[in-house]
Amino acid sequence: MLTEEQIQRYSRHIILKEVGGKGQQKLLDGKVLIIGAGGLGAPIALYLAAAGVGTIGIADADEVDITNLQRQVIHFTADVGKPKVESAAEKMRAINPDVTVRTYKEWVSAANIAGIIADYDFIIDGTDNFAAKFLINDACVQGNKPYSHGGILQFVGQTITVLPGQSTCYRCIFPEPPPKDAIPTCSQAGVIGVLPGVIGSIQATEAIKFLLGKGELLAGRILMYDALGMEFRNVAIKRNPNCPICGDNPTITVLRDELDALTVCDLEH
Ligand SMILES: [Zn+2]
Repeated sequence: MLTEEQIQRYSRHIILKEVGGKGQQKLLDGKVLIIGAGGLGAPIALYLAAAGVGTIGIADADEVDITNLQRQVIHFTADVGKPKVESAAEKMRAINPDVTVRTYKEWVSAANIAGIIADYDFIIDGTDNFAAKFLINDACVQGNKPYSHGGILQFVGQTITVLPGQSTCYRCIFPEPPPKDAIPTCSQAGVIGVLPGVIGSIQATEAIKFLLGKGELLAGRILMYDALGMEFRNVAIKRNPNCPICGDNPTITVLRDELDALTVCDLEH
């Protein structure tokens, strides 16, 4: 039952026929985990908090650095040196006191990820390295958790939503992480500051649509965005029956850390 204040706060949602009071209640009952409180995590956390997603987890072991501020819009100059999850949680609570924020000041690993994702309805990968991206994919497929993948570098970004057992997973497209140092990092190659805002906002939209049960999710197709050419492309990709994690005979049965990929594509540091 929404309070008078909630009816006002969410009035622009409630007048949408796809949301209504019932949909807003679904958002308030929803639990979304954001892994990474950096460029992608920043807009995701701000929008999900504003939208009234009732429980939001945020995981990141890092502290705010001055080089983050050009794009990680949830962190302010005065937050430099503060744990990112703490800085993000303060802003989310300030936007919307309806939201319960749970912070995890740790990196996800094969040892802890299953426990962290277990209590959430939808997971968002806002991380900056291939090791985390493959681990999140594998843990979500094994744990049957729908999730949104996002990646950014320089002027290009990509995102796909994975419905385990139903739609294409990240490993269906990329069976293994690229070799170490094959792809430059954001600190080496740069990233235009607004890019994570575009990709992260799409990921937040997917989480909201999933909780509402409305619209077409970005599943079975990867969305690629080129900011310089200002082009969006949707590429349909079928689930791969030989996929090592979601295929007919998976070869990955125990979660593992992709140690060789740990330093690759260090997008956000
Ligand atoms: Zn797969």
